[in-house]
Amino acid sequence: MERLGEVGEFGLNHIPAKNAACESGPEGSNPSLSAIGTERSALGVAVHEELFLRYWIETLGCPKNHVDSDKLAGLLVSQGYSVAGSPEEADLVVANTCAFIEAAREESIETVLELADRKGERARLVVTGCMAERYGDELATALPEVDLVAGFGESLTEVPSTPVALRRRPTPAFDLLNLPRPASATPWAYVKIAEGCDRRCGFCAIPTFRGDQRSRSTGEILSEARSLVEGGAREIVLIAQDLASWGHDRRRAGRGEPVEVLDEGGTQPLIELTRRLSREVDRVRLLYLYPSGLTSGLIETILETGVPYFDLSLQHASRSMLRAMRRWGDGERFLERIGAIRAADPDATFRSSFILGYPGETEDDQRELLEFIEAAQLDWAGFFTFSPEEGTPANAMDRQVPHELALERLREVSEVQDSITARRRDALVGTRQRLLIDAPGVGRSVRECPEIDGIVMVEHSLAVGTFVDCEIVASHGTDLEAVRV
Ligand code: SF4
Repeated sequence: MERLGEVGEFGLNHIPAKNAACESGPEGSNPSLSAIGTERSALGVAVHEELFLRYWIETLGCPKNHVDSDKLAGLLVSQGYSVAGSPEEADLVVANTCAFIEAAREESIETVLELADRKGERARLVVTGCMAERYGDELATALPEVDLVAGFGESLTEVPSTPVALRRRPTPAFDLLNLPRPASATPWAYVKIAEGCDRRCGFCAIPTFRGDQRSRSTGEILSEARSLVEGGAREIVLIAQDLASWGHDRRRAGRGEPVEVLDEGGTQPLIELTRRLSREVDRVRLLYLYPSGLTSGLIETILETGVPYFDLSLQHASRSMLRAMRRWGDGERFLERIGAIRAADPDATFRSSFILGYPGETEDDQRELLEFIEAAQLDWAGFFTFSPEEGTPANAMDRQVPHELALERLREVSEVQDSITARRRDALVGTRQRLLIDAPGVGRSVRECPEIDGIVMVEHSLAVGTFVDCEIVASHGTDLEAVRV
């Protein structure tokens, strides 16, 4: 896209294929575009004169952004909008962008330009999401096609006094978290339980534009989960930048949170929340667990839910690399925890993500990581090359690793993991698994997280949204094949 050359101010100076992992990052993301929205008929308060206005939202980036888009859709519906069949038919076209890594920023800009071409002459084009928050002023200047650049939680429908304005607040105390959302189109749904992050990992820019952690209350989360369950969701996938720390900010701030968040028995707040949610929905799955947050109480709770799935954000195994990343732990501690979980439940499933080529990474660090990957025998793993991000400590660090070398390391470690994943999938042939049917011909056991892991192929006649006991009869790389028993 030739316009990309003009947008170097958004940090688009490097062209990695895949990039740095993070609790918020692409290890949990489906980077493809998707359009969302559920049609409803309410005529709204904000659409005073023009009736039958229609919206279109394009979403980029991680699951958290998809939840934001759901909420934007819910807000627009409450204002009288209904979903359009295409960007060409919409009166309001929204690009919900991702700014996590360079490749994501490029894709966001390309999408905005494509939407500008496709939208009707009178339609308004709004850019929101992480890119708007992080590069709002530059976007507003560089993209005259855009009518409004809106920060998190800012109005998309308000007509600005100037053609383009950034509605930025320093760090929004309340953004999209507690907006209504439409029913889930699938039998599972993400629920975002906090926004922002209190950690300051060396490679991650998220806290600079998403701010410190702001946890939703137990009541708000339960209420959203209940409405999703009423709408047909059988599995709730909890997400946040640093899920295991949910509730700590509320406790610190002393906001008079009711007892359930105030750490019953001195445990972490997420434990009680997980227990309560698991009483309301068939499956509760937790994503993005920072390893020091994986306490014995939380491990026990996750095992009790019947979804023994552990998505650990490890990022490396070498102690010196992890310290350089300003993160907790080392390969030995990670293996201890994984071993303790497997001792309690041999069927536990593990996923993690790792960064290759962080500044200062040596061949010894790479060897440590390879040894860890062999020893840990994770079911699933994502690998990303380091991407220097503006405003992060790692950006200014010496001993940057050439991108080609990082890619070479990524290929080496991916090859080892691919054969581990395939072996672990093969070992499931002949076992019985309870599957949630996500779509015709597609099921998932507790071992597969939606959108991220493999699937289980089943006969098309199995009803979507039901649980079916099946036997695994074949393995095809990451995917399995099963028949009803
Ligand atoms: S700073 Fe927070 S969001 Fe970023 S990688 Fe660290 S824990 Fe994740």
